[in-house]
Amino acid sequence: MSIDLDYDQQHLWHPYTSSINPLPCYPVSSAEGCEIILEDGTRLVDGMASWWACIHGYKVPELDQAAAHQLGNMSHVMFGGLTHKPAVELAKKLVALTPPSLEQVFISDSGSVAVEVALKMALQFWHAKGEKRAKFATIRNGYHGDTFGAMSVCDPDGGMHQLYQGFLPEHLFCEAPQTRFEETWDPADIKPMQKMLEQHHQSIAAVILEPVVQGAGGMRIYHPQYLKELRKLCDQYQLLLIADEIATGFGRTGKLFACEHAEIEPDILCLGKGLTGGYMSLAATITSKSVANTICSGEAGVFMHGPTFMGNPLACAVANASIDLLIASDWQTKVATIEQSLKTQLKQCLSLESVTDVRVLGAIGVVETKQAVNLADIQAKFVELGVWIRPFGKLIYIMPPYTISASQLQKLTDAIYKVLTSL
Ligand code: PMP
Repeated sequence: MSIDLDYDQQHLWHPYTSSINPLPCYPVSSAEGCEIILEDGTRLVDGMASWWACIHGYKVPELDQAAAHQLGNMSHVMFGGLTHKPAVELAKKLVALTPPSLEQVFISDSGSVAVEVALKMALQFWHAKGEKRAKFATIRNGYHGDTFGAMSVCDPDGGMHQLYQGFLPEHLFCEAPQTRFEETWDPADIKPMQKMLEQHHQSIAAVILEPVVQGAGGMRIYHPQYLKELRKLCDQYQLLLIADEIATGFGRTGKLFACEHAEIEPDILCLGKGLTGGYMSLAATITSKSVANTICSGEAGVFMHGPTFMGNPLACAVANASIDLLIASDWQTKVATIEQSLKTQLKQCLSLESVTDVRVLGAIGVVETKQAVNLADIQAKFVELGVWIRPFGKLIYIMPPYTISASQLQKLTDAIYKVLTSL
């Protein structure tokens, strides 16, 4: 039986869509390799890796096997008072792969929750130290998720702050870094942050940002020196630094974690998306022993969070297989090859009247247009050309699975050029 699209339109909410006037959805029957297969048999080359997550592509034998094996043992068991091999293995892997100071792992169920957990860690840290600090500092154009705490540190001009005014806590924002990744560092770039921290450091619990690549808040790629300077400022004012690597983690920017571009260690690191190779929802918030133990020496004596699906064994087992697969692969070469191709192939878009900018880092390619695109129209054109690319606003961007072939990648970039010439 085919997918009931009428029922979908009438009863299902899709991300950021209207129930009155929903945009069309394409019915998917399966996905394999780097292709999404529609119900009518159309095969679309995937340019999105399902929002940064499916780094190895779809129907990956190693991940399928890990899931099947774990199903044979248990798919879930509560994490309060119980533990299991998949979670312990995952913690070992994450502690080994992330900067040396990060040793205490909180496994949760989604990226937004991982951010909530990070913010709560920072608040409890200061509470335990006997200081009331309830402000977070961040840069504009950020995106950290859709739950309330995460929303409160997203770009304030993105619509959500106004909509939820009075309910969202108000935090501190400064201009985002302007120096591009490949440009010469401009020391003036850190000044807005420096000024903000100088003025407000006594009320700030932590600084939170996406290192090097700002995703949903504008697909901006900035100079890593900004992070070096920020780390120095956080040390100077003894502020915690939270790196949200939910989108950038697991090799996407050409380094395993984007903080490595700046050789800095955050105090709290958030991971998600690619953690399970995009198989299921899982996230982790990792901090140092010193932060964790300070939190737990406070009045509460514990860290106050514990979701039902914490440490879900099925998701942890797949995450373990995904990390093993990534580390055993030559992902650096794959991502570097994608980067080179994106740079050469997307450059031609710059000659188009409708385009203002092209930027590439690792396996991320962005084409910015002068005017916002009509999503339904452009989506249909992409599907006609046999690719899956979902732009937002003025941004047509791709971050394909690392396993994409040269010809599949060419198909994606050709489609972008072709569609843009028709605008
Ligand atoms: N942080 C960043 C940087 C993200 O890109 C996202 C998701 N787009 C999130 C947090 C939230 O993750 P999730 O959608 O899994 O809640």
